[in-house]
Amino acid sequence: MHSLERDIVVIGAGPSGLTAAWELKKAGLSVAVLEARDRVGGRTWTSNIDGAMLEIGGQWVSPDQTALIGLLDELGLETYERYRTGDSVYIAPDGTRTRYTGEMFPVEAHTAAEMSRLIEELDGLAAEIGAEEPWAHPKARELDTVSFHHWLRQLSDDEEACNNIGLFIAGGMLTKPAHAFSALQAVLMAASAGSFSNLVDEDFILDKRVIGGMQQVSERLAGRLGEDVILNSPVRTLQWHPADAGDGSSSVVAISDSATVHARYAIMAVPPNLYSRVSFEPPLPRRQHQMHQHQSLGLVIKVHAVYETPFWRADGLSGTGFSASSLVQEVYDNTNYDDSRGTLVGFISDEKADYAFSLSSDERRREILQSLAGFLGDEALNPVVYYESDWGSEEWTRGAYASSYDLGGLHRYGADQREPVGPIYWSSSDLAAEGYQHVDGAVRMGQRTAARIVAAASGDDTDMNTAGVMAAAGVNR
Ligand SMILES: Cc1cc2nc3c(=O)[nH]c(=O)nc-3n(C[C@H](O)[C@H](O)[C@H](O)COP(=O)(O)OP(=O)(O)OC[C@H]3O[C@@H](n4cnc5c(N)ncnc54)[C@H](O)[C@@H]3O)c2cc1C
Repeated sequence: MHSLERDIVVIGAGPSGLTAAWELKKAGLSVAVLEARDRVGGRTWTSNIDGAMLEIGGQWVSPDQTALIGLLDELGLETYERYRTGDSVYIAPDGTRTRYTGEMFPVEAHTAAEMSRLIEELDGLAAEIGAEEPWAHPKARELDTVSFHHWLRQLSDDEEACNNIGLFIAGGMLTKPAHAFSALQAVLMAASAGSFSNLVDEDFILDKRVIGGMQQVSERLAGRLGEDVILNSPVRTLQWHPADAGDGSSSVVAISDSATVHARYAIMAVPPNLYSRVSFEPPLPRRQHQMHQHQSLGLVIKVHAVYETPFWRADGLSGTGFSASSLVQEVYDNTNYDDSRGTLVGFISDEKADYAFSLSSDERRREILQSLAGFLGDEALNPVVYYESDWGSEEWTRGAYASSYDLGGLHRYGADQREPVGPIYWSSSDLAAEGYQHVDGAVRMGQRTAARIVAAASGDDTDMNTAGVMAAAGVNR
């Protein structure tokens, strides 16, 4: 059992916790990072499955994700573009399969016009409300008390248009049914990517991948932190004391299965649905007890199918396909850099994932491959490697991709979600503004939290001074 003394203890060695730890170390503070798993990276995980390199978790980078792009540069990691040459495939609600090019799905003129109108509406709201404090906008309550599903249908009577627009945020991002989260939560998701138009443009949001895998971000950060990262070390108890009147310093004691760390500050760099896995002594305030029960992870199965060749390319297909009505609702060419084999990745979200998990593994594989074949042809039925990323079964995550509030939770609790409780700070992609739910947001939150602690540690934690330190560090608050 290690017994350590540090300035800051970081709980969780995902991209957010490791970024925070690295920034704090660069600022001259001492850190220890306690990680529950036997690896770093959290929801990013690059692994070799039956001879194929697969991105089991987060992988894509978009051009607006400048915090992540900056970190990739700092760590000497390179990116490459997703394959996108050729026709995409759209499967309509009646099962009709159509090849198309361009951004708009090949739908009837009325549906296309309705989709454009809904995209414009969401772009307008995203620009007006923004990602930083959506809860503070005058329209926040109104938009947060109606489900995204019903909000879309208040604006349009075109069911196919509503389902297609719903898909981009519900199945595509929050991985919850559109009736389970609010229109305000959808606006936050859009604003966090710059606009709704960015989210619906797969060539923007799914632009590039990291050569060698996204997990390297965490692995390289951990390499720099060396023995300050302790694996197999789930934190069970966090004792905390606010700054006392005596010497004015706060303190925490983090107790894990393999280490006890005494520090001045703690960073909870885990998704909010896992906060309650830790016993806080004394208990957290009422506000946090309530807030954390309204934040939950979605559910999505990320399916990987590897073939001897990327056969769809020979048929003039890009590998991209969409259908709000199919079991697999999105599919993309996910071939690795410099690989002669071809890889497809597909996504099965929320209620469809519930259905898929109700099947035996053989039945599930058969139905999923049939769905892929519906987009790209029967050759899709026989992959040489097949793998389902199942994050719902991972004890230290419990879902994918990230957490969002239930109906009405965002305007009610959002203002408090990033506020420290005494010496305890919160940092994860789930709390980010820009880059929300993405690795970029995890990095931004890590930088932001580190800057706040640097300011607090130097006795300058007034809002103005904190803002100044963060501006100096190039971080938006
Ligand atoms: C299938 C999938 C696909 C995704 N696709 C993309 C994508 O293409 N692009 C993108 O940008 N993002 C994507 N994401 C999201 C992205 O991976 C996450 O937003 C990001 O990893 C979050 O980083 P984090 O550090 O905030 O949290 P995590 O990565 O979840 O890290 C938290 C860490 O805390 C540890 N932990 C939890 N509890 C404890 C405890 N009590 N004690 C100690 N340690 C603990 C966990 O083991 C974990 O290592 C995807 C995610 C998934 C699951």
